[in-house]
Amino acid sequence: MPSESFTTELAALIKDTREQLAYLHELGVTNVETESPAPVPIREAVTGKLQEIHTEVVSDPYGVFAQGLPVSFRTDSASSASRGIRPSAATSLPQDTLFGDIAAPPPIIEKTSESFEQIWSDIGDCTRCPLYERRTHIVHTEGNRRARLMFVGEAPGADEDAQARPFVGRAGQLLTKIIEAIGFKREDVLIGNVNRCRPPGNRPPTAEEASMCKPFLLREIAAVQPEVIVVLGNTAMRNLLDIKQGITRVRGQFQDYHGVKVMPTFHPAYLLRDPSKKQETWQDLKKVRDYLETTPRRES
Ligand code: URA
Repeated sequence: MPSESFTTELAALIKDTREQLAYLHELGVTNVETESPAPVPIREAVTGKLQEIHTEVVSDPYGVFAQGLPVSFRTDSASSASRGIRPSAATSLPQDTLFGDIAAPPPIIEKTSESFEQIWSDIGDCTRCPLYERRTHIVHTEGNRRARLMFVGEAPGADEDAQARPFVGRAGQLLTKIIEAIGFKREDVLIGNVNRCRPPGNRPPTAEEASMCKPFLLREIAAVQPEVIVVLGNTAMRNLLDIKQGITRVRGQFQDYHGVKVMPTFHPAYLLRDPSKKQETWQDLKKVRDYLETTPRRES
């Protein structure tokens, strides 16, 4: 008879595996490698096979379980941007640095009462950077303006430029699946980009282009105050956080943006090019889901 802690651990493991399989299924993975000779269709793995594994593990805890699972699987100085950001009262004590000087406490975002429509009206028919010359549409942030969770990408691509909506192309469809895999609907969250106009050939926006557009994103963040922001890929991460390292090093580790938790992870377009990175993305997103599930909604 397995002990209660073993059964609890096993149940958690099975739940986790089932979720991971469901995530992979959502992402369009059809088969997973197992230790059995033939690949297992993922639908079967989610339903039947795990039940078998469960039964087998409970009756032989030191056999299968001991072998492991059988499934082989920054702040912006532009004045309009700094609206809503004030020094943190909670962290107002001076902090010593390595060299004995006093570092300023990190400011936190103060909620503003601006509406997105006010922010977009300031953006207007924008010509602040050269990207306006070839755009069809300005692509604004969309989603729930009371969202706890926000996703920030780099800049619109061709589909987004045509439809005036962020993340609607192939990478966007994958992002939608990722959002659903952690138990949200696309309409529950906020989705935006550092830049709102499509860079020619989908190149990353230059630092100058990003610095023109980012203040509006920061105003939206201050207006909504999401509790977690997932930054997708290097460009989004480096534009929101003062980080020199690349996404591969920083992903999966919660960062701070003026009191908002920020999770860097891979960009879905990168996942389309290298699907093997989906598993790491899943680990990162599970941390976000677990944080939101275990943290009461912040009073606004
Ligand atoms: N890539 C992005 O970074 N943003 C989009 O809106 C679409 C693709």
